[in-house]
Amino acid sequence: MNILIHTCCAPCLVGPNQLLVEEGHRVVALFFNPNVMPYREFRARLNAFKEYTTNQKIPALCDEQYALESTLRRFLDRGEKPRCHVCYEMRLGETARVAAQKGFDAFTSTLCVSPYQEHEGIRKAGEETAEQYHIKFLYMDWRPLFAPAHEEAKSLGLYMQGYCGCIFSEEERYNPSLRKKMQNTRRISVEGGS
Ligand code: SF4
Repeated sequence: MNILIHTCCAPCLVGPNQLLVEEGHRVVALFFNPNVMPYREFRARLNAFKEYTTNQKIPALCDEQYALESTLRRFLDRGEKPRCHVCYEMRLGETARVAAQKGFDAFTSTLCVSPYQEHEGIRKAGEETAEQYHIKFLYMDWRPLFAPAHEEAKSLGLYMQGYCGCIFSEEERYNPSLRKKMQNTRRISVEGGS
């Protein structure tokens, strides 16, 4: 199959890309992450994505727009919906749109490799956007790949982020009282996780 894989960051691409290619799929990676804040963090992750896909000869597409204001507005105006679900819908919606427009057979996301994400939320957002754009969403539970692939990413010297992406997750990671409160939730990143 021709698969467009939404890529949250270079380290999370390592395992899923290797697996999909081994299974015989043609994989193209898409960087679309307006949730990553602030600007220097966004550039660091974008640059790591470009470096890794170039070095590994992985076909890649990048959206380099830093859409801070519109993304923050989406988060703040979300009503009762959990923030991460808005985030998944935003990123997977754009991936589904691009995949349909460019004639891919299916799309998926490296978010599926992270033990810190809400997998039911990812699956729901993927399936809803797939229906909207008449394209297949591949939900994969790639969590067992997380630790070995991140070890490989470290050995390659890839940039490893310290928090999930948005400024709210940055505070949850570095504000000691918030971190304590959030310690048992999936949204807190550990070194290199997202
Ligand atoms: S914690 Fe991560 S998944 Fe949730 S809204 Fe922030 S960047 Fe998106």
